[in-house]
Amino acid sequence: MKLSNLVPNDCRGGILEITPAYLRERGLEGVILDIDNTLIGHNVPLPTAEIIALLDEYRSRGIRFCVVSNNRRPRVAAFCEKIGVADFVWDALKPAAAGYIRAAELLELPPEKIAAVGDQIYTDVWGARRANCYAVLLKPIHKGKEGLFIAFKRLLEKPVLFYLKIKGMIK
Ligand SMILES: [Mg+2]
Repeated sequence: MKLSNLVPNDCRGGILEITPAYLRERGLEGVILDIDNTLIGHNVPLPTAEIIALLDEYRSRGIRFCVVSNNRRPRVAAFCEKIGVADFVWDALKPAAAGYIRAAELLELPPEKIAAVGDQIYTDVWGARRANCYAVLLKPIHKGKEGLFIAFKRLLEKPVLFYLKIKGMIK
C-alpha cells in the first residue's frame, strides 16, 4: 500500500465548494461523486435543493459527472434517477480503482481530468488516487448514522487527518 495514496489532492468543507469555477481553475472537466455523506446524509433518500442546483450548474457549464458508490444497486439507481444521473457505478468496492476507471470511461475523460469527491479517506481518497483522479476529501455531512465498519475506518482516518492538519490542508 502506497501511503501517499491516502493523501487527497485537496480538502474542502463540502460538495457545494466544488463549483464549476473550482474545477476550471484546476483544469478539471468531470466529477465523480460519492453519495452517502457526500451528496446526502447516510441513507437519507433525497438531496437538498442546493445540491440539485449545483448539479444543474454542472450541466449548464458542460461539466460531466457520474456517481460511484459502494452501496447496492437499488439505492444507487433510485437516487441517481431522482437527480437525473444516467451514469453510475454501484457495488464499486472502493478503495478498488476499478469503479473509478469504469466511471472515467463512462465520462469519456482521462482520470487526471476528473475530480473524485468523497468523505472517506480509506474508501474515496484511496480509490481515487489509485485510479489517478484528482481526489478531494470532503467533510462528511453527518457521521452519526454510520455503521460499525465505517466507524472503524473513521478511527483509522485520525492519523491521516492529523497529517493533513500539520500540512495545513485542513483546519
Ligand atoms: Mg461516503
